[in-house]
Amino acid sequence: MAEGEIRSTTARGPASSAPETVPPAATGGVTQAAMVKKTAPKSDYKPADVSPQRRVQRSFTVRLWSIRHSRGLEWFYARFANMFLMLHPLWNRIGYGRAEAPVKFVEKHVKGLMFDCRMCGQCILSSTGMSCPMNCPKQLRNGPCGGVRANGNCEVEPDMPCVWVKAWEGSRNMVKGDAILNVQKPVDQSLRETSAWLRVTALTAAAKDKNEAQA
Ligand code: SF4
Repeated sequence: MAEGEIRSTTARGPASSAPETVPPAATGGVTQAAMVKKTAPKSDYKPADVSPQRRVQRSFTVRLWSIRHSRGLEWFYARFANMFLMLHPLWNRIGYGRAEAPVKFVEKHVKGLMFDCRMCGQCILSSTGMSCPMNCPKQLRNGPCGGVRANGNCEVEPDMPCVWVKAWEGSRNMVKGDAILNVQKPVDQSLRETSAWLRVTALTAAAKDKNEAQA
């Protein structure tokens, strides 16, 4: 080495000028998220409702059941949505605003149990094989990130099946499963904690009225 030349060294010896490529097998399949977690400062504070602690306690049993039965749920939801639409005059008479609290209460609990719903207010379960994309730690609504593990689990939460792997599986059972290929808009955060059921009903009713007026 010439005098004054500085070369970095590693435990394995002097670094070469070409960037070293570490094959995945050499890292034992450890992802970046796992390495970041390992090097994070340890503390006694364990947030009660933040992943991964919360996730570890859950078995995803019901959520996975819903995905396995996506075809039946698709059939059921189509009829349920029609029934809600037929009740549009009632919602109008009560006032959508006033109907929201009780409907939201039911929606939150039913979908919370079946899909681990996070009440984003713009439900796309019908396009995602009945796998709620808001359960993705990165909240991706247009497919998985590049970190899905070889076993199909999430990069961030290793014990959890990737919601997009499951979404694809669920969509393959559905009649309109190819809707998973539609590009979804970013989440409108202003709709959080609102009823997707009522919103879809009101929008469908308005579109129907418009079509009838034009006919
Ligand atoms: S997409 Fe939104 S409304 Fe639908 S289940 Fe997921 S969080 Fe709930």
